[in-house]
Amino acid sequence: MRPLRSFSVVAKLPPNLAPMWELAYNFLFSWNDQIADLFSQIDQRLWRESDGNPVAFLNSLPQMTLDILAQDRFFLARLNDLLASLRQYVAKDQPTINFPHKAEDKPVVAYFSAEYGLDLSLPVYSGGLGILAGDHLKSASDLNVPLVAVGLCYQQGYFRQYLTPDGWQQERYPTYDFEQLPISPVQDQAGHPVLIEVDLLGEKLRARIWKAQVGRVSLYLLDSNIGDNPPHLRGVTARLYGGDLEMRLRQEILLGVGGIRALWAMGLEPKVIHMNEGHSAFAGLERIRVFMSQHSLSFEAAMELVASSSVFTTHTPVPAGNDRFPPELMQRYFDPYARQIGLAWKVFMALGREDPRDDGEFFCMTVLALRLSRFSNGVSKLHGHVSRNMWKRVWPQYPVEDVPIGAITNGVHMPTWVAYDMALLYDRYLGPTWKEDPDCDRVFKLADTIPESELWRTHERLRERLIDYVRYRLREQLKRKGARAKELEAADSVLNPQALTICFARRFATYKRANLLLQDRERLLRILNDSEQPVQMVFAGKAHPHDNEGKKIIQQIVQLCRMPELRNKLVFIEDYDMILAKHLVQGGDVWLNNPRRPLEACGTSGMKAMANGMLNLSVLDGWWDEAYQPDNSVGFAIGKGEEYDDLAYQDFVESQTLYNVLETEVIPDFYDRAHDSLPRNWIKRMKKALVELGPVFNAHRMVEEYSWRTYAPAYENYKRLVRDNFQPAKDLAAWRMDLMTKWSQIRIRNVRAAAGDQIHVKQPLVVEAEIFLDGLRPEDIQAEIYAGPLTQDGQFAQRTTTIMRNEGLAQDGWHLYRGQTMPGEAGRFGFTMRILPHHPLLLDPHSLGLIRWVDAQ
Ligand SMILES: *Cc1c(COP(=O)(O)O)cnc(C)c1O
Repeated sequence: MRPLRSFSVVAKLPPNLAPMWELAYNFLFSWNDQIADLFSQIDQRLWRESDGNPVAFLNSLPQMTLDILAQDRFFLARLNDLLASLRQYVAKDQPTINFPHKAEDKPVVAYFSAEYGLDLSLPVYSGGLGILAGDHLKSASDLNVPLVAVGLCYQQGYFRQYLTPDGWQQERYPTYDFEQLPISPVQDQAGHPVLIEVDLLGEKLRARIWKAQVGRVSLYLLDSNIGDNPPHLRGVTARLYGGDLEMRLRQEILLGVGGIRALWAMGLEPKVIHMNEGHSAFAGLERIRVFMSQHSLSFEAAMELVASSSVFTTHTPVPAGNDRFPPELMQRYFDPYARQIGLAWKVFMALGREDPRDDGEFFCMTVLALRLSRFSNGVSKLHGHVSRNMWKRVWPQYPVEDVPIGAITNGVHMPTWVAYDMALLYDRYLGPTWKEDPDCDRVFKLADTIPESELWRTHERLRERLIDYVRYRLREQLKRKGARAKELEAADSVLNPQALTICFARRFATYKRANLLLQDRERLLRILNDSEQPVQMVFAGKAHPHDNEGKKIIQQIVQLCRMPELRNKLVFIEDYDMILAKHLVQGGDVWLNNPRRPLEACGTSGMKAMANGMLNLSVLDGWWDEAYQPDNSVGFAIGKGEEYDDLAYQDFVESQTLYNVLETEVIPDFYDRAHDSLPRNWIKRMKKALVELGPVFNAHRMVEEYSWRTYAPAYENYKRLVRDNFQPAKDLAAWRMDLMTKWSQIRIRNVRAAAGDQIHVKQPLVVEAEIFLDGLRPEDIQAEIYAGPLTQDGQFAQRTTTIMRNEGLAQDGWHLYRGQTMPGEAGRFGFTMRILPHHPLLLDPHSLGLIRWVDAQ
């Protein structure tokens, strides 16, 4: 039976409390502790039970509580102060550094992501990728970057984890009521919901739009669960990463194609799009379609425009993390679309194939995104390098170092992750504006001025708070299992508030090796059971629902936690989420990370820990490969960045290294106390990490880097290409077509260097060559000397490139070119020569994939 009409029922707040809604509907509460405290201090228990969701919380407050609050002058004064500061924050129009933009072009950037981890109360995230996206939006808000964001609103979000009595992971999917979340429906001027639609196999899938306000940034989430859709289509947004491959494709069509339509339907026409991971790459296609239909551009011109103004971030070196769809599936869904944008099927499929000629190859979203963006990057320096290798087939003929995928290292949003107590210290010693100050370097240098004892006492208090919270979670999970009173009581005394506390919390993917420390049980037991220098560990994390290997590792750990002699020293907390993550990264002493290098693209949890004065103990992978300093002065390393082929052997070696580092460095150092019981060396490391890593592994730095390295130049490209009714975009496309037909005719001859077999260090080496251009003009190309020291087997160990000058014509119409290079050091040195396209509107000569190397002579 369905009702005739339905209503959303909300609490009626007394008029003087009504401003609480305004605070509840802006996610500023997720990084402004005072706003969160205003809510939680009304009723701590209810606040916890509502998962820190202020809307559900306000709706559940008893009338009597409201009546009392409405009379409480102190409360009302505080409420009005906070309201004023929220309004001031939102209205403050501070200049956006590194990003000059015209007010009428706002929003300039649209950020696309399949998940967002803003806060526990908006469960549309699963892990690192989502949290990073959430932190990106918060920093964009703090720094006033003109950005909006697009995602999906999942009915059931990601799964919640609980364990059976024998430690096997089970998944639970609570259904969320969007009316009770801190988001609001987007309506048109007449008050009707704004709806968009996309085609799925000839049917229309409609979606409404929810808005989450993240400080100054708006996040729009698409929701297919509406009466306008037939029942079999409503479930497209049911679960984050739920369903089969076809469901994944449907979600990605809604996210990419639907996302662009939603922005246009709301009158927001961003100039730049940023695809956070390949899930949203159809957004690039849809933008091409829109430009073609609204401005009568050719596919080629629209593609130039879109690629020149798109940014793509790839996030995983694990092949399974990159979506690939079989050709038949693609054809069922995209045949009409390909026709609409005027592409033959094979040409369409080539957009998503590493080798465009291979008809059997699946359609890969990462490849599509790479081809549709002139700004692509990995998420740490090491991951940039790994990604260039991983995707070099998209740029055949390119040496791997020229594959146009850069690196912008991730960062974390400090105000979200830094504990309240620690934030008070920072307020005092770094200055009250540390939260919004874009000059991260200057700010974090001041961490050196925090008195040692104050820092250590604050840290110890946070450890106590962590242990208190762990006991609470443990009790709750025991209650759910129907534990006896005695067991519940025992939960109240697990862990020791003074002991060295190691935390390990992350997805239980096998490459993260949560069980590395369990390799040698005897040795682990010796470490944990030392009564002089006690060590304890807290574990948390979810395995993917289909990953039985990951679930086995959880079971192994849980069984170890049950051993009577470890019961108080080792705990596994179920259902890793943002609130547990906060407690762990704030209150532990050591953050342990031991993935199989180089599979951790970046890792951000260790940065959150660093921001709170925890020390990292990690394999040199992801961010730690660039953060670690060999003298151990900012934290500890496991190994030296080795990579192995024999995985079992690797686990053996690295587990031994891990025990050694713990026994000889970490534990002795932690317990090396002066007469005032301060571990001086340890505190020195905490401070040095804050001073040196704080400014770098910080989302403000990350967003600034995206702004000046990608958003600003992409925006400039856009403005240049759309001038004069898109004439430059048309010209660029025509130039490219012409270039493509003539490129293969380019010839190089008589490459010569004015030298014998021996040359001297730092002595210029002049190189000359003759080039046949087949009707292309000299300004259409760029000739380069490609030179550098050689390895033993005659490969370039490094290389530099220098541009050659056109020196006029030879008699038969060939062009003369000359340039010079220089060996920097003694040893074998070599050079070769190549030609790249050149055009004033083409920022990166590598992006067209055209290159001509000199043939061996
Ligand atoms: C930060 C965070 C992650 C990501 O951590 P990694 O270091 O990338 O594994 C995952 N889940 C939660 C809840 C987090 O807070």
